[in-house]
Formats: sequence, C-alpha cells, structure tokens
Amino acid sequence: ATTPETPKPSKVIAVVNQKGGVGKTTTAINLAASLALEGLPTLLIDCDPQANTTGGLGFGRDDARPSIYDLLMDHHAADKVIVPTDVDNLSLIPGSKNLIGANIELVAQDRREYRLRDALAPVRANYPFILLDCPPALDLLTLNALVAADGLLVPMQAEYFALEGISELMSTLDRVTQSFNSSLALEGVLLTMYDDRTNLSQQVTENLTSFFTDKLLKTSIPRNVRLAEAPSHGKPVALYDSKSRGAEAYRELALELLARNNMESPEVARRRAAA
Ligand code: ADP
Ligand code: MG
Repeated sequence: ATTPETPKPSKVIAVVNQKGGVGKTTTAINLAASLALEGLPTLLIDCDPQANTTGGLGFGRDDARPSIYDLLMDHHAADKVIVPTDVDNLSLIPGSKNLIGANIELVAQDRREYRLRDALAPVRANYPFILLDCPPALDLLTLNALVAADGLLVPMQAEYFALEGISELMSTLDRVTQSFNSSLALEGVLLTMYDDRTNLSQQVTENLTSFFTDKLLKTSIPRNVRLAEAPSHGKPVALYDSKSRGAEAYRELALELLARNNMESPEVARRRAAA
C-alpha cells in the first residue's frame, strides 16, 4: 500500500466564457463538488451577480449573509465570508445581488483589478483547489477572477458558432498575462452539453482539437437532464443522482484535472491502500 500524495499548494481556476448558457455554473458547481468528494478541500466562489452557483447549492440569494461583495469591498476578510456546504470538503463564498453594482463601485477603488487576489491570499493555502464561477461578460468582476487565478477553464458548446468570441477571450487572457498576472495560463477547454451522435458535434470537435491541441480536455460533458435538475434541489449532481451520466462525467473531469496537475485523488489512493 502507498500513502496518498500530499496535495500541492492551491491552484485557483476561473471558469470563464463571456457567452451565457455554455455551462460555466454547472461546471463550477459539479467540478468543485467532484474534487471535494475525491477528498480535496475545495473552495467555490460565486463571482456572478446572478448567483446561480449559490442558489444551486441550496443557499438563498439575497440574504443579508456576507458575500463575495463584502470581500471585494473590504467589509469582511475571506474567513468571515466562507460557508460550509452539504458536500464534504466543499466550502462556498456566496454571491449576492449587490454584485450588480460592484462593477461600478470597484472602478473607484485602489488596486481594483487585484481585489479578489489580495482578499484570497490569507486562505489560499487551505485549499488545493479554488474555483471561480464568472459572469457572462469580460467585465471588472471577471478581470478580478482572472487576476486571482492560475488557470482558465473555458466551457464551450460544440455548436457551429463555438469559436465566435474565443479570440476576444484569448486576447483578454494575453492582456491579463502581460499587465496583471504573468502566472495565468489556459488550463483547458471543456466541451459541454455534448452529443457525440451528431455530425456537427464531431466536426466542431475536430476544429476545436486543431485550434486548441492538447488544451482541449479529453473529458466532455454529455447533455444530461440530471445536471439541469440538480440545482433546483440545491445539490450538485453527485449528491442528487450519483449514477447519472452527468455525475460520472464531472468525476472523470476532476480526475483528468488532477492528472494534468500531477496530483492524485486522495480517495483513489485510500481505496487502493484498502484493497
Ligand atoms: P452559464 O453559467 O454558462 O450561463 P449554465 O451552467 O447555467 O451556463 O447552463 C445553462 C443551462 O443549461 C442551465 O439551465 C443548465 O442547467 C443547463 N445545462 C448546463 N450543462 C448541461 C448539461 N451538460 N446537460 C443538460 N443541461 C445542462
Ligand atoms: Mg452562470
């Protein structure tokens, strides 16, 4: 039996695509939950004023509860806004409707692009993975996420216009790398709501493979109704229907991400040691 490898210090991953409805929130919730269920303490941060990640984990959206807004505005330190969730090892910094105004309020603040990065510094080391769910815009909130992040995870639908907007996203990545955060890199591109039976999906996948090469993740997420239903039950799909194709796919994604970062799942290691 081998002992599990100690998780490496934290990796912050921003789930970004300025298009709405491509599966960012679904990916943020279910990838974070899958990493947590593999035994890795994970922090999920809801950076979108729509607060769908917060709602999808069963939390109310316009509570007076401290949120990411208070963190960005320096009203509270990170440890005061982090809440535990029903998923073992998964913590959340909730979003809130206040964030709608944050884009404007942040403009007048010192180090406006670094607010999230600065605020997370004291808690980063507590989590092997921190995931940021971003709004469908390349605004100051998303910029804060990109400046705080090490990696960019881009969910995309395999549709004819999939690459539309991607050049804008890639030039934003370049700009952030040059001006604010030289350690930011593309972690991977993830196909979501995938249906491999259609010719179009296969054709788009070929195009994306030649465009992104090894950055196109091997795991793709199938269209699965359980993924769409789970948020209304306030649960990630792994707790709502752990045997569903959606749950299997996000677990596979978590394992691929770990492998790409030379990390082992503590849960896999534990099972192997017990066998
Ligand atoms: P975004 O955060 O990019 O706007 P969402 O994750 O909210 O996108 O997804 C948009 C909609 O599509 C939601 O209703 C969600 O439940 C649904 N959805 C996302 N991924 C899948 C999937 N793989 N299968 C079925 N429905 C999905
Ligand atoms: Mg979303």
